[in-house]
Amino acid sequence: MNKSEILKRGWNKKCPHCGKSKIFATWFTLNEKCEECDFVFEQNPGDSWAFWIIGDRFFLGIFMIALFWVIKPESFQTGLVLFSMIMIPLILTMPNRMGVCIALDCLSRNYLGDEKTVNKIKKAQS
Ligand SMILES: [Zn+2]
Repeated sequence: MNKSEILKRGWNKKCPHCGKSKIFATWFTLNEKCEECDFVFEQNPGDSWAFWIIGDRFFLGIFMIALFWVIKPESFQTGLVLFSMIMIPLILTMPNRMGVCIALDCLSRNYLGDEKTVNKIKKAQS
């Protein structure tokens, strides 16, 4: 299975394993597993924590530092407009970024040799 395809499926909020079922039940609620292939999206709760932090908080921190220490808005209104220009895309793409985090977790489980994930990926390839 192609790594970029897995990440693309995550961005599109589809199962990183089969690409058919939705990762989220609602806008922000994660399904437990794929309805098509039974792939468990978060096998060990907390394993995807690093990906969530990198995929979400890290970029938010960079944008906030850039806004307040590099750009330094001259007025409250300018700051509010710049803050909105950063926050609106971040909020709108939150499920997509979280889908990528689930896909990264899938890739790491495969890389680290998690038996359940490796066996499912091998079955899908054959
Ligand atoms: Zn699936």
